[in-house]
Amino acid sequence: MHEWLPIGAEDLAEFDSAFPYIPDPRECMSCGLCLKVCPTAQVFQSEAESPRQRIRTISKLLVENLPISAEERLHLDSCVQCRACESVCPSKMPYGQLFDQAQHKTSKPPSFLARTAFQVIQHRYLLRWLMPGLALYLKLGLQKPLRASGLLKKIGLANAEALISKPTLQPLAEYYPATTEAHGTVALFTGCITAHFDQATLHAAIKVLNAIGYAVKVPRAQECCGALHQHNGHSASTFIANNIRVFNALEVDAVLHCTSGCGAMLSEYQSDDAEATECFHSRLYDANDFILQHWPETLPLETSNRTVAVHEPCSQRNVLRNSQTIYALLKKIPGLTVTPLADNHLCCGAGGAYMLTHPDNAAALGTLKHQCINSTAADVVVSTNFGCALFLRTPNINIEHPLCVLAKQLSSDVARIMR
Ligand code: SF4
Ligand code: SF4
Repeated sequence: MHEWLPIGAEDLAEFDSAFPYIPDPRECMSCGLCLKVCPTAQVFQSEAESPRQRIRTISKLLVENLPISAEERLHLDSCVQCRACESVCPSKMPYGQLFDQAQHKTSKPPSFLARTAFQVIQHRYLLRWLMPGLALYLKLGLQKPLRASGLLKKIGLANAEALISKPTLQPLAEYYPATTEAHGTVALFTGCITAHFDQATLHAAIKVLNAIGYAVKVPRAQECCGALHQHNGHSASTFIANNIRVFNALEVDAVLHCTSGCGAMLSEYQSDDAEATECFHSRLYDANDFILQHWPETLPLETSNRTVAVHEPCSQRNVLRNSQTIYALLKKIPGLTVTPLADNHLCCGAGGAYMLTHPDNAAALGTLKHQCINSTAADVVVSTNFGCALFLRTPNINIEHPLCVLAKQLSSDVARIMR
């Protein structure tokens, strides 16, 4: 948590009560240290695209209560919300919180498409109903003619459609017992999109957890983490309240998340029920951290002579701040060479919904990241963020979750050896 100078009650009164904590953007001392790590300032080489200019704009909105110009709005909106500025700021500027509050204060009613997307994410049964249709769409090869017709572009769905991959229709089971000597039980947060489009990562996490002696519960009533809503000016309070209630009700040793974007949101949950929120946070871990902490030194892993390059998603690097865990975990695999991707401090451009709302900016950042990937001799790139992996993946670039790499190296005889 950031330490912050207290501000007066009269300042607080001006703001929407949806956010209980109002830091003061005027604390920015314009030192400029954040410019070097800000992807938009780097790509556009412009002060208007810098964190400190955005802080000035946010200050106008939240502290001075002044209207902002269309240009200021544009530059504020083009922030990819990577929060790299937070990690270097000597004033400990809580940029993410400030940005969410500014968005909340000025958010316009969402477009029909955005409203539909929010509804689908909000109601998991809608997402489940949609999946067979998507699978059929891909199976029948409708992508090609629909793309060629130009209709997708006309209705603003071309960028979203380009990201679609084959969904998994079968939901996860609700319980997976440990496959070696039992040490306890954990609950797994699956995420809304990941549950359908990246079950490979969830299965890998379950397999590794089972192998280190933990049974895994997957509660059906869990919902989306709420990040897309919160970072786009909408309330995530329904998701927050539901997930806190669902996970707190379970008798487990820990609640784990695998995807760093969701994990970042979960780790910053705030709600009106302080006791329940504290209870939720007290058991919440990144699955990678949990596995590393509970790693049995006798667990057999098969040797690999491959090279892995580690992409550090902004949500992991700047919010969870545990990138080193990934290197330590992968180094458990005998023979594996593990290297960081160059320029890991710069966002890849995916930025949650940013790749859809700002496709040109995202593409410019994605090109820089592809150059870094192409300059490595790695056999595989790993990333803990499914959004980044989806955005950066090409027919020539294979991006996996680090737990998938780890799970593949588990000895097939692990249960017998560990007993
Ligand atoms: S590093 Fe912090 S204090 Fe310095 S200019 Fe950036 S936001 Fe302001
Ligand atoms: S969150 Fe990222 S893109 Fe936005 S101002 Fe900070 S460094 Fe720049």
